[in-house]
Amino acid sequence: MENVADYKEIIEVIKANGGEAFKRCYQCGLCDAVCPWNRVRDFSMRKIVRQATFGMTDIESEDLWRCTTCGICPQACPRDVKQIESGVSLRRIATEYGIFPTPVKPIRTVSASLLGEGNPLNEERKNRANWTEGLNVKTFAEGMEVLYFPGCYLSYDPRLKKVARATAGILKAAGVDFGILGAKESCCGESIRKTGDEELFRRLARENIKTFIDHGVKKIVVSSPHCYHTFKNEYPEFMVNFQVVHISQYIFELIDQGKLELTKEYAKKITYHDPCYLGRHNGVYDQPREVLRRVPGLELEEMPDSQASSLCCGGGGGRIWMETPKGERFSDLRLEQAMGIGAEVLVTSCPYCITNFEDSRLNLGDGGETEIEEGGVPEIRDITEIIQEVI
Ligand code: SF4
Ligand code: SF4
Repeated sequence: MENVADYKEIIEVIKANGGEAFKRCYQCGLCDAVCPWNRVRDFSMRKIVRQATFGMTDIESEDLWRCTTCGICPQACPRDVKQIESGVSLRRIATEYGIFPTPVKPIRTVSASLLGEGNPLNEERKNRANWTEGLNVKTFAEGMEVLYFPGCYLSYDPRLKKVARATAGILKAAGVDFGILGAKESCCGESIRKTGDEELFRRLARENIKTFIDHGVKKIVVSSPHCYHTFKNEYPEFMVNFQVVHISQYIFELIDQGKLELTKEYAKKITYHDPCYLGRHNGVYDQPREVLRRVPGLELEEMPDSQASSLCCGGGGGRIWMETPKGERFSDLRLEQAMGIGAEVLVTSCPYCITNFEDSRLNLGDGGETEIEEGGVPEIRDITEIIQEVI
């Protein structure tokens, strides 16, 4: 094993980043038993923890980058070893040394795009509001009730722009006084932070916070659980507190207050996938399900591994930007679970989950390696796309 960084430095960096809990590990292996990687290949968080305890981390190993920060092993750990925080601190060392194994290399382009244009997709900042074309969405101004923050993928990705458009349609139908920041919005920074680029995260966070304050923002409705998580739990590190609501929670509120009526039928069997950063990391399980249950004609059935045991799509922790070979994609397994219960539609509420599931859908649908069970591959929908159809 080759150590690029001095072992003392590794231990110090881990400590500085809240990773001291590593020391508590007694190698029970429960983390490996629940980790989704072990459904597709060998991977051991237990070993990473052990090596880090002795400052023996192999900084060049691809394993350092596997954790999707799904949050399932911290839930299972009897010693409260903070695997995610400690894993991220190891990535900080690798980032500092510029060591990226081949499948991780796309992060360099992502970082450059975040730095230059405020998004990870190599798109121009000035085009950030193009998704609103023809919708007459207002620019946020002080005094408005809500800032709608679609985030990067919903602003630029052709598949996910449909979700942003559905959301704007719902907010308008409910009479919400809302606006967007358009080109003044920057990436929330959640995922780049999990890859270990703390400096870039802080830069993006400061940019957004300044824009929010300058515009008098108080309440933010977000589409991505990653924006939700960082605005709610990480931006307070900068001594600010905004009221943050995920769109699935907001739709629930709007229905409850009688502002949104679900009148049309959606007579399909669906299943709901809990995104890690909405469910496990933030405890939002009931509101999206309650919204779906109120859709006339809709049949909701749970997959195996639901709610706190939800199977990660594979996109968290910056993995959305890394290459995962066929046969190792958690999203393929999740689609198989949805097919296994005969779901016609797999509903979720996260841009990364949708991206990964749509990829898996193509893979499974075009004669990929996995056999399709009777009933076919389910459609992939964001919760807003269902609601838009029934109002
Ligand atoms: S579950 Fe916790 S205590 Fe057990 S091996 Fe993993 S990190 Fe260590
Ligand atoms: S957080 Fe999830 S992906 Fe990361 S090591 Fe734990 S179980 Fe595995």
